[in-house]
Amino acid sequence: MPESGLNRNFITFEGIDFSGKSTQAVRLYNRLAKKCSCLLLRDPGATRISERIRSILLDNSHTEMSYWTELLLYEAARAQMVEETIVPALEEGRIVICDRFYDSTTAYQGYGRGLDLQFVGNANQIGSCRLTPAKTFLFDVEPGVVRARKEKSNRTEDRLEAEGMEFLERVRAGYQSIAKENPDRFYLLDGGRSVLELEDTIWNIITNYLF
Ligand code: ADP
Repeated sequence: MPESGLNRNFITFEGIDFSGKSTQAVRLYNRLAKKCSCLLLRDPGATRISERIRSILLDNSHTEMSYWTELLLYEAARAQMVEETIVPALEEGRIVICDRFYDSTTAYQGYGRGLDLQFVGNANQIGSCRLTPAKTFLFDVEPGVVRARKEKSNRTEDRLEAEGMEFLERVRAGYQSIAKENPDRFYLLDGGRSVLELEDTIWNIITNYLF
C-alpha cells in the first residue's frame, strides 16, 4: 500500500470518450517534461499485463462480457499498473499523469452500467491499491460535441465507445456527481473550449500547484 503523501505528484485526466482528455494529457506531459521528470500512462494499460487486459476489455467481439467481469478486469489492470509502474515512479519523485483512473470505473461501471456504487468503491480501493490522485481534470462535454468529434475522426469505436448516447449521458452525469463530491481534487473543465485555451488553463493550475 502506498504511504500517505506519496500521491502528491499523481495527476489524472477524466471524461467520456472524445471529451479531449488524451489530447490535454499529452500536452501537459510535453510541457512538464521540459521542467521535470514525469511519466504519461493510460488506464487500462501501461504495463505488459495491463495492456493485454485492455485488449480483452475493449474488444468489440466480446459482447457476452458480464458487467462484473468488466469491473474486475479494469481493477486487475489498474492494480498491476499501480504496483509495477506508478508507485515506483512516485517513489523516485517523478510526476505521474494518468489518462483515466478509478473515477472512470465509478462513472462507467457504477453510474453507466448501474452496478452498486458501494461495491464499485470497494473494488476501486483494491484496484488502485488505495492510491488516490492529488488532482483530477474532468472534461465535461455535451453529447452533441462528442457526436461531431466522432464523425470527424477516423477512430474505430471500441466496445465501450460503441455504447449509445443514453449510456454516455449517465456516465457524464456520474462524473459530474463525483466531481461535486470531491471539490478539493477535481477541476471541472468545459471540454468544448479550444485545445489551446484548455492547455493554458491546465498549465496554470498545475504550475501553481507544483512549483
Ligand atoms: P478522449 O481522450 O477524451 O477520447 P481525444 O483527446 O482523443 O479525446 O480527442 C478526441 C478527438 O477530438 C480528437 O480527434 C481530437 O483531435 C479532438 N479534440 C480534442 N480536444 C478538442 C477540443 N478542445 N476542441 C476540438 N476538438 C478536440
